[in-house]
Amino acid sequence: MSEKKDNDLPLTPSLGDMSAVDFRRHGHRLVDWIADYFENIERLPVLAQIEPGDLKAALPPSPPEQGESMDAILADLDRLIVPAVTHWSHPSFFAYFATSTSAPGIFGEMLSAAFDVKGMLWRTSPASTELEEVVLDWLRQMMGLDPGMTGFIYDTASVSSLHAIAAAREGVELRIREEGMSGRTDLPLLRVYASEQAHSSIEKAIITLGLGQRSLRKIPTDAEFRMDVAALADAIEEDKRSGFIPFCIVATVGTTSTSSIDPVREIIPIGEKHVMWLHVDAAYAGSAAVVPELRHVLDGCERADSVVVNPHKWLFTPFDLSVLYCRHLDLLRRAFSLVPEYLQTPEQAIVRSGSDYGVQLGRRFRALKLWMIIRYFGHEGLAARIREHCRLARLFASWVEESPDWEVAAPVPFALVCFRACPQVEAGPGEVTEKRLDELNEAIMHGVNATGDAFLSHTKLNGKLVLRLSIGNIRTTEKHVRHVWELLNAQLSALA
Ligand code: PLP
Repeated sequence: MSEKKDNDLPLTPSLGDMSAVDFRRHGHRLVDWIADYFENIERLPVLAQIEPGDLKAALPPSPPEQGESMDAILADLDRLIVPAVTHWSHPSFFAYFATSTSAPGIFGEMLSAAFDVKGMLWRTSPASTELEEVVLDWLRQMMGLDPGMTGFIYDTASVSSLHAIAAAREGVELRIREEGMSGRTDLPLLRVYASEQAHSSIEKAIITLGLGQRSLRKIPTDAEFRMDVAALADAIEEDKRSGFIPFCIVATVGTTSTSSIDPVREIIPIGEKHVMWLHVDAAYAGSAAVVPELRHVLDGCERADSVVVNPHKWLFTPFDLSVLYCRHLDLLRRAFSLVPEYLQTPEQAIVRSGSDYGVQLGRRFRALKLWMIIRYFGHEGLAARIREHCRLARLFASWVEESPDWEVAAPVPFALVCFRACPQVEAGPGEVTEKRLDELNEAIMHGVNATGDAFLSHTKLNGKLVLRLSIGNIRTTEKHVRHVWELLNAQLSALA
């Protein structure tokens, strides 16, 4: 995709940056490169078809002594890097939570890199602070979240949830910020509750905060993979009788394996009764609430203490951008603000300083890309795209349901279908049919992925291996969904 070697290009200057003339020239080429990439992406295999270590072996082990031409760099981009990329922007990327960038989002990233602000204080870039406040309030309105919720941008949902749980712990008034947890005999076990289907980031947050894995109590789920509310209530009562301090419940709207929705409205009174923080992990499905008829998925969140939603998952925002909506920004600030003399500013009492609300000092200007995306597509445009993804997922699920050789393994509230092949298989002597079906489904998945035409991932539900088809790419159309269905059936015919 890069041009042939251009011998006229000057070598890198000995001092200073690339000249404006060259920047313009290479920049135009690079934009052309990206446009070509998107236009021709379906010619590339979705899943990188290389072996571990291949790229490392192809790269020089030591850095160049002299600067190199952009021609040489772009040639290696095509030759070495592109084949080693798994193309999340490919419309047949259906694995994990399929997410995608968009053109206005890419422009936002380019500008953010050009400004290169470190948004730690209001004065280090007023635009970064103020645009973030405004654009997150737009998003809040689009999702129908309560006006009492204030948004703050982190890189990922893992980090958003970490900060939410830290704020919840700060609210328990145990002087953990000042005295820590180690060596203290006066601290009972602090408990956090999340369903067995909650994302691993919750457990990681608990590990990172020094609470220890035993502080997380995993609550069983019902037949549709939603938190069992009665089991939650019992667990909290039991822990209190044991002298523990239950301080936080994490509900999930759109779990990772199946996109199930915990019954937030029923969980609220339990949290309120025990004065606990309710954090809602809507990292994936929160974006669906921008579709008016799907707003109900955040039902109950108006009484949550915090909600995380990831525009980088399903709002066409290039990675990374996660938003924590929080009702108690003051607690977040109490947990994290630490302002040395060299960061004091005259206006600090009347403005928001990004560094007060988390572990990071400098922060990227992420709001810029979200602002450009919302302006370019508009609320209606974003809703139309998400609505279409949900339609495609329901369509795929209907084909699965109609086929005697396949079954849908979980409800489909959004754009994720969990399904598996279930043909009649003969179990050999001493063999278990379920094990054979697991092996068959795994082989089907690897077979489809090896074609390079589509990429799927899997999970386990009730001990069974299940395939996941996630639709979230801005370029995915019915044609791509039909094609992966054909690929799946071809693999099934070849293997069963
Ligand atoms: N929460 C849920 C429900 C998720 O599905 C995921 C990732 O898929 C995460 C959190 C973590 O997201 P991130 O990569 O932004 O940390």
